[in-house]
Amino acid sequence: MLANNRVPRALAAPEPTWSVETDVVILGSGAAGLSAALALRPVREVVLVTKDTLDAGSTNWAQGGLAAVLDPNDSLENHVSDTLEAGAGLCDEEAVRTLVTEAPTAIRYLMELGAAFDPGESSGEIALTREGGHSHRRIVHAGGDQSGAEVQRTLDESVRLAGVQVVERAFALDVVIGETASGQRAVAGVKVAMLDRNGGVQSVGIVYARAVIVATGGYGQVYASTSNPPAVTGDGIALALRAGVEAADLEFIQFHPTVLWSGSEATGQQALISEAVRGEGAILLDAAGQRVMKGVHPQEDLAPRDVVASAISRRMAESPAGVSDHVYLDARRIENFEERFPSITASCNAAGIDPTSELIPVAPAAHYVCGGVKASLNGETSLAGFFVVGEAACTGVHGANRLASNSLTEGVVAGTRVGRALSWELPAKVTVSDEDVDGELIDSYHRAALRSAMSRYVGVLRTPEGLESAARILGTLASNASADVVPTRKAFEATNMLTIAMAVVEAARTREESRGCHRRTDFDAPSRQWLRHLTCRLVDGKVEVK
Ligand SMILES: Cc1cc2nc3c(=O)[nH]c(=O)nc-3n(C[C@H](O)[C@H](O)[C@H](O)COP(=O)(O)OP(=O)(O)OC[C@H]3O[C@@H](n4cnc5c(N)ncnc54)[C@H](O)[C@@H]3O)c2cc1C
Repeated sequence: MLANNRVPRALAAPEPTWSVETDVVILGSGAAGLSAALALRPVREVVLVTKDTLDAGSTNWAQGGLAAVLDPNDSLENHVSDTLEAGAGLCDEEAVRTLVTEAPTAIRYLMELGAAFDPGESSGEIALTREGGHSHRRIVHAGGDQSGAEVQRTLDESVRLAGVQVVERAFALDVVIGETASGQRAVAGVKVAMLDRNGGVQSVGIVYARAVIVATGGYGQVYASTSNPPAVTGDGIALALRAGVEAADLEFIQFHPTVLWSGSEATGQQALISEAVRGEGAILLDAAGQRVMKGVHPQEDLAPRDVVASAISRRMAESPAGVSDHVYLDARRIENFEERFPSITASCNAAGIDPTSELIPVAPAAHYVCGGVKASLNGETSLAGFFVVGEAACTGVHGANRLASNSLTEGVVAGTRVGRALSWELPAKVTVSDEDVDGELIDSYHRAALRSAMSRYVGVLRTPEGLESAARILGTLASNASADVVPTRKAFEATNMLTIAMAVVEAARTREESRGCHRRTDFDAPSRQWLRHLTCRLVDGKVEVK
């Protein structure tokens, strides 16, 4: 099969047989989508479509917590400077300041909605922990290491109580494009496939709306080795690219330094061993018992994630004591480990490891995407009526590397901001224009080859030859796109994953430096000339990086 460098310009699906009309349609039900729905609901008619159950995104899995300045000994300025430092020169300082300033209010808002964050030692206080890259204790957590589940539970209940119309197992395919009275290209709605329990398509319809908010999360599943749940396949970013909207910073993928290593053949979502474990004193050791982070960074085991992930990858490459695919986390000295980290204890126990008496085998895995659709912290993009929030957006808050626990906070802050803005004013009415393009899909069984190529060649340390190989493999997969593939959730996702993977590889090939979480073996330092963003667009199905 000849390689192809074009991806489908639309997802192939059956003809729409129904339509509904609303003020705002939200795609996705994590922290960002639910926060937007809650802020909108008192004023606007909202339909929230989500491709699985409400809690299928990353939000439900977050362990560490939410970053916010709540300790009187800390300051907003400290949080801003820690975020800028982690972002390695590519953060938008204004967006960072807005996020940091609104973060404490976002925490209090979640508490008003009923979120039970872990209490501190004195009455009325919230417990705060530290994570990598934070100069102070400022991470609010719940249920020890079940912070995301508490945020998801709180927002799920609030959205249901507020009467938001939620449609589960509804897959957003592509936007419908229209034109405003002044002739401006704008979004008129979104095409949605209703799925059965096995991911087959029951029907396709169109939700017409004055505004479409994409809150579909990141694209960790593009990698074989990831902490992300199966739903996180980059759908919203691929949809935005097909709609002609620019994405940015796609090459900056944060690899969590420590997911539970579950054998060299493991694929799919892998259990995270939160940074908070190192925050409480655990240290990284190689198979020869030597400390991995000693002398690498002043903050040693609590250095920013990119530093820790790349130190682990380099140490694994040296194959100490003959072990080249994992290192160990020594958490044996942490008191009350089971109480403080119940989910992590359960994951370790399920793998036959007792973290209180044994070393935990760990390795880096794709965890968080710093890039996404270019948007402001209010969700605005270059396309009228089209808004993007949460992990799917690139707002400049994370730059080249996200500071731990800033993303749940961002989801709540940006979701609420876009909701408030659209409560005040909806975009102009749009007439549907005829921009219909023929859809294609790639078969879902290509996912395995795609994911393994990305993990193998586009991981923590990137070589020019590896990136070249990844591009070749993806090109071959793209040449399998056809209008005849049976439309299913898995095939829609595979096609979106291919689109994203091609854009990530192109951006990673273009950025000839190492910065933040993009590390090239042939350019081992950041370069002043690269102190800028790369943007990606699809032009006739071909990825263009600038
Ligand atoms: C294991 C783990 C631990 C983490 N720990 C932390 C932490 O401690 N602190 C922190 O700040 N961040 C953490 N993160 C990151 C954080 O959880 C995410 O960045 C954040 O939850 C993203 O929220 P979101 O609302 O943007 O997307 P998500 O929560 O991922 O939600 C996306 C939603 O979109 C839906 N969707 C996707 N595609 C479609 C489609 N085509 N049509 C319709 N619906 C669709 C999904 O089903 C889902 O409902 C962690 C992530 C993981 C995986």
